Amino acid sequence: RPLIEARGVTKSYGRTRALAGVDLTLARGEILGLVGHNGAGKSTLVRAIAGLEAIDGGSLLVAGADRSRGYTLAAAEAAGVRLAYQELSLAPDLTVAENAYLSYRGALPRLTWQRTAGRRIARALDEIFPGHGISVHARVGELPMPKRQMVEIARATLADEVSLLILDEPTESLGPDAAASMYAHVHRMTAAGASVLLISHRMGEVLGHCDRVAVLQDGRVTAVRPAREVDEPT
Ligand code: ADP
Ligand code: ADP
Repeated sequence: RPLIEARGVTKSYGRTRALAGVDLTLARGEILGLVGHNGAGKSTLVRAIAGLEAIDGGSLLVAGADRSRGYTLAAAEAAGVRLAYQELSLAPDLTVAENAYLSYRGALPRLTWQRTAGRRIARALDEIFPGHGISVHARVGELPMPKRQMVEIARATLADEVSLLILDEPTESLGPDAAASMYAHVHRMTAAGASVLLISHRMGEVLGHCDRVAVLQDGRVTAVRPAREVDEPT
C-alpha cells in the first residue's frame, strides 16, 4: 500500500483555507514532485505529512498510521519520516555533530549514539557531498549557507531506515555539483526503498528527477502526471 494516502485533507488558519481537500498518494520507492505558486499550500501539506501539525478534516495516512492529529518528532523518527527544510531546522549555536545527535537518537542507547553521532553525520556528508569540507565540530551558525544546507540534508538521511524523505527546496543555496550529488543520493535511497516528496520551484530538477509531479493550487491537488509527460514551461 502507498506510503502516503491523503484524502480530502483540509486545514485552515483562521479564515484562510490553506488546504481545501487534498487528495494525494505516494508509492513506496517513488519520487513525487510537489509544485505550485506561493500560498498554494505546499508548506502546510508538508508540515501535516511530517506530523508537525494536525489537519482539520479528511484522512491522512503516512507509513500505515493515521496522522490526522499530528505526531511527535519521536514518532516521525520511529516511522522513518525525515524532513529537510529550506528554512533549516538546525540549531545555529550547536555544532554539526550536536545537531545530528539532537535530531536523531535512533535505537542505540543514548551514550553510544552521542559518541557516534559525529561519525554518522560525517559519513553521511561524505557519501552525499564528497569533498564537502565541513568539520562536524564547526558551529552550524558559522558555516556558509551552502554548507548549512548540506548539513540539513545529510542530517535528514540519518535514521535506521528512512521510509519517507521530505525535501523542501533542498537545492536553493547549493551549486550545480552539490545539487547533482544530492539527487544521485536521493536515487540511491529510493532504490533502497525510500519514498521522496520533493518541493521545488526549479522545474528542471523536478522533471529530471521525479517519477510524478503533483500540482497544488488553492489548497487542492489539481493535477498529477508522470514527469515525462509534463512540458517544461518556457
Ligand atoms: P506555500 O508553501 O505553497 O507557499 P503555504 O502552505 O505556506 O503555501 O500557505 C498556504 C496559505 O496558508 C497561505 O494563504 C498562507 O498565508 C496561509 N498560512 C500558512 N501558514 C500559516 C500560518 N501559520 N498562519 C496563518 N496563515 C498561514
Ligand atoms: P558505527 O560504526 O558508527 O557505530 P554502524 O553503522 O556500524 O555505526 O551501526 C551500528 C548500529 O547502529 C547498527 O546496529 C545500526 O542498525 C545502528 N544505526 C545505524 N544508523 C543509525 C542511526 N542513524 N541512528 C541510530 N542507530 C543507527
